[in-house]
Amino acid sequence: MTDDTWGRVREDMIKSVGKNNYLTWIEPLEFDGLQNGVAQFKVPTNFIGNWVSRNFGDQIIQHLESSGADVDRIEFNVPRCGTSPVPADAKVAQQQPKVPAKPRETQADVPGAPIDRRFTFDTFVVGKPNELAHAAARRVAEGGPVSFNPLFLYGGVGLGKTHLMHAIAWQLQNDRPDLRVVYLSAEQFMYRFVQALRERNTMEFKELFRSVDVLMVDDVQFIAGKDSTQEEFFHTFNALVDQHKQIIISADRAPGEIKDLEERIKSRLQCGLVVDLHPTDYELRLGILQQKVEQYRGLYRGLVIADGVLEFLAHRISTNVRVLEGALTKLFAFASLVGREITLDLTQDCLADTLRASDRKVTVEEIQRKVSEHYNMRLSDMIGPKRHRTIARPRQMAMYLAKQLTSRSLPEIGRRFGGRDHTTVMHAVKRIEELRSTDSQIAEDLDLLRRSLEA
Ligand code: ADP
Ligand code: MG
Repeated sequence: MTDDTWGRVREDMIKSVGKNNYLTWIEPLEFDGLQNGVAQFKVPTNFIGNWVSRNFGDQIIQHLESSGADVDRIEFNVPRCGTSPVPADAKVAQQQPKVPAKPRETQADVPGAPIDRRFTFDTFVVGKPNELAHAAARRVAEGGPVSFNPLFLYGGVGLGKTHLMHAIAWQLQNDRPDLRVVYLSAEQFMYRFVQALRERNTMEFKELFRSVDVLMVDDVQFIAGKDSTQEEFFHTFNALVDQHKQIIISADRAPGEIKDLEERIKSRLQCGLVVDLHPTDYELRLGILQQKVEQYRGLYRGLVIADGVLEFLAHRISTNVRVLEGALTKLFAFASLVGREITLDLTQDCLADTLRASDRKVTVEEIQRKVSEHYNMRLSDMIGPKRHRTIARPRQMAMYLAKQLTSRSLPEIGRRFGGRDHTTVMHAVKRIEELRSTDSQIAEDLDLLRRSLEA
């Protein structure tokens, strides 16, 4: 094998890992010879070596083999410090009790995670529920003077937090290559920290993280309850804020609502800009679907989608965008396999499971609210002790609906109605069933309530 072979493999790698990953991880590798099936590379730091072997090791071996090199293992060596090679198997690397302390590197490596090239601002669809988060992300992506610190993005799963953070990283890397941008999950932050503790180079860890210009930590709720990691995160955070470096954090809920997170951290997280991504609405979901269809057109030629299919999906799948995307992928793959037009029928057949799973679930609380609104009574009377007919009857109807529309058991329903016994609920269900066939007003009310609850 020659340097030429490696040159060709590198070109192949651009295609398979993407330009961005390539520049961060593959380009820094220097081919250093092949012996007894082991390809040796020089890497600037152990971190890069570890990361590459874990994430791209197999691909590199495959590419080398298909260019005719006889390789079954790769090894990375950090020049200058004479540390032990990083084996291609990451697990082995983790089990090594201690890597000899390295001299401090002037060009410290950036301990971030690779950026997903699909997650750009171009592919992010903006709607009412996410417009503020999007605008704030755009602002920090300009890389100008820091106007709010940190930017704290929060929202439920699959609403685009990670997408926005990658988009920021992506744009900064392109427009401001002078800035050192680090994106990683809180889990990876913890992992790096624990590893530094084990390898006894926490000084290096601290310096590394404190030398970045933009730090993004995704899913920070993960460090709640992990005391020493929280502590370290807090210090890193403060050091960067003091130097006016931009920090971007995401979590699945607001800072104040993260359990087991230290108060001082909560309050620091709140002092920047806190924006939430709201659950998607119909328009946003439809917009996302339309955009995905455009992206798919290149992949599946000649695919026809009947009118109303996207609207149907946007209406029915309201859980999160990831599920929406998954449904569309499945639908396209299915339609192109059987070579049929995507009609509403085909959609319903193909996605039966997904559609059933995302059917809206009615809660007992919603039922109580709807019923008390309908009969103009106070919500608190639903769970209170009053026994007057004008209150007791609607309460019984709510219990009946809870039994019909939710999967709660009688004792569970009883508990939600101010801790009543399950026999009370049973009695209510029987009573309303009787009234239903004798009292047309009650039958009508039940119908109306049920329809509005299921809408
Ligand atoms: P989160 O990190 O909030 O759980 P992600 O950012 O991983 O969610 O988003 C889940 C998936 O949905 C990703 O594939 C992402 O590209 C997509 N997605 C979410 N919101 C949007 C949006 N507004 N426009 C386009 N794609 C989106
Ligand atoms: Mg995420």
